[in-house]
Amino acid sequence: MAAPTPYTATHTITHWIAGERRAGTGSRTQDVFNPTTGAVARQVVLASPDDVQAAVAAAKKAQPAWADMPPIRRARIMNKFLALMEAHRDALAAMITAEHGKVYTDAQGEVTRGIDIIEFACGIPQLLKGDFTDQVSTGIDNWTMRQPLGVVAGITPFNFPCMVPCWMFPVALACGNAFVLKPSERDPSASLLMAELLQQAGLPDGVFNVVQGDKVAVDGLLTHPDVRALSFVGSTPIAQYIYETAAHHGKRVQALGGAKNHMVVMPDADLEQAVDALIGSAYGSAGERCMAISVAVLVGDVGDRIMPVLAQRARALKIKNGMELDAEMGPIVTREARDRIENYIGIGVAEGATLVVDGRGHQVPGLEKGFFTGGTLFDHVKPTMRIYKEEIFGPVLACVRVKDFAEAVQLVNDHEYGNGVACFTSDGGVAREFARRIQVGMVGINVPIPVPMAWHGFGGWKRSLFGDMHAYGEEGVRFYTKQKSIMQRWPDSTPKGAEFAMPTAQ
Ligand code: NAD
Repeated sequence: MAAPTPYTATHTITHWIAGERRAGTGSRTQDVFNPTTGAVARQVVLASPDDVQAAVAAAKKAQPAWADMPPIRRARIMNKFLALMEAHRDALAAMITAEHGKVYTDAQGEVTRGIDIIEFACGIPQLLKGDFTDQVSTGIDNWTMRQPLGVVAGITPFNFPCMVPCWMFPVALACGNAFVLKPSERDPSASLLMAELLQQAGLPDGVFNVVQGDKVAVDGLLTHPDVRALSFVGSTPIAQYIYETAAHHGKRVQALGGAKNHMVVMPDADLEQAVDALIGSAYGSAGERCMAISVAVLVGDVGDRIMPVLAQRARALKIKNGMELDAEMGPIVTREARDRIENYIGIGVAEGATLVVDGRGHQVPGLEKGFFTGGTLFDHVKPTMRIYKEEIFGPVLACVRVKDFAEAVQLVNDHEYGNGVACFTSDGGVAREFARRIQVGMVGINVPIPVPMAWHGFGGWKRSLFGDMHAYGEEGVRFYTKQKSIMQRWPDSTPKGAEFAMPTAQ
């Protein structure tokens, strides 16, 4: 692969309302950092309540005509958007690396997984097909159809600035809704490029809007009477706040929260594969993935066999500027996040866990001000420790040793989070039992990060998801539409007087 072109623009990142960039009415802005150098790269505007009002009003105005457009024509616009996203995949990836810090190849993968959902949304004519029953009663037919909700909004986290918005808006738009996106203020550039590409694809102005901002923007959307549904992805405390507040204001909500994903390694697992899986899923994207593995559950004698190899691999991680193509791990998104992660390492030591590899204070030559930390590995972590219970969201792998399969399953099921989980084994019976018994929304058997493909839907259990429906896939179509049932009889087919008893099939 040729060396990628870094993203170096310095302009202020604005909102996107009614098909144009707008600075907004608020006077507040926030620094957007390049985590690799630690320098401020550009500014992002922060929305005022009036800016939220303007975005929702633009969406409300544009939505009825968009909903009236035949689904196949909406799908054709999605198809053009798909092609434009493919053409801009590398530009988006460079933008993501510049503001998030993840390595460029990983950012390319993120964009590809976002594009998958757009491709799924291109099938909307088929997905919106209703059900029909001929002759539910003599002379009467009954059918159901799904109609859009109106204006819907999405609030997204920093860790996937392209893919997570794509979990939401392509499906919502294809269903005939207008969308207001509130991206993370830490890496907001990708949202504006996607807005421009949607416009180039032929999306009518106002159907897709972006408000940049913080809690002020979020609260404006949560309480706005014209916002009919809210999708959120982020940390659990905020997810719970979003769920409760939006529901209180009469909205449909799906709020995806934090995680503590376990990988169970059985004694019969292929240990080489298990080590590769643990290293990639614990330290990839510097552990800043909601599906990252942060706990290894080592069953029986696996701990003694695997720990020396894990330690050696964690120490050998290539941590550098993510634009270098051999980089395995880049910096952490902000200085505060890096300090929070390193503080957790101190807590783990104080709690009595064995610190096998200490990533604190890692320096990358020439990038001393970057927000880097190394890969950290703990052994003998106990379920009572904070480093086991709490989401650290960094490159810290906690290893817990258990005696058998039953103890491993109990451990996972007792955890408050239930986003993703994996089991490495060569026994089909164990694998089957694991998949059936485990209280987690997404399960990998010999697959460390089982992020479902676009047509399957994504969502955790327990405190990893507030709401009833998963993101994207057919659940996404259901979330962004409401069902209407129509029962039809033509008056002259079976003339009858007024009926006062509950109608039954005749
Ligand atoms: P975050 O909760 O801090 O922020 C998410 C969004 O909420 C951002 O747009 C932010 O501006 C907004 N926000 C933050 N504080 C707010 C407040 N007090 N009131 C209203 N809005 C607020 O999350 P983050 O740090 O951006 O992302 C990391 C978190 O997201 C991790 O916990 C990770 O597990 C989670 N995550 C979950 C999934 C999933 O699918 N379950 C996917 C990706 C990330």
